[in-house]
Amino acid sequence: MSGFNLQRHGRGWIVAGPDGRQLSGVYGDRGLAAVRLGELQDLAEATGRRMRRACMCCGVSFQSAGIHNRLCVDCRTGTPVERVPARSKSAARAEGTA
Ligand SMILES: [Zn+2]
Repeated sequence: MSGFNLQRHGRGWIVAGPDGRQLSGVYGDRGLAAVRLGELQDLAEATGRRMRRACMCCGVSFQSAGIHNRLCVDCRTGTPVERVPARSKSAARAEGTA
């Protein structure tokens, strides 16, 4: 339970947090605000599942994406992180337009 909820805001709707803080823009349509509410709840739950775990392979502590994620990046990819080549901007552009 995230505690997120829809609140009237002027003539529209906003998503508010448990503390009443505004978390979204103002939506004229309650349905659109409800969709955003669902997205924010999913995000909060995903973030809550993330934690530091010890890698099942090498034992190094790493930031796990969730209960399914038990291997550090090195063990998962077989490549030490510092040796992964940084993606060049031109390569990213080429992929974006392909
Ligand atoms: Zn590992």
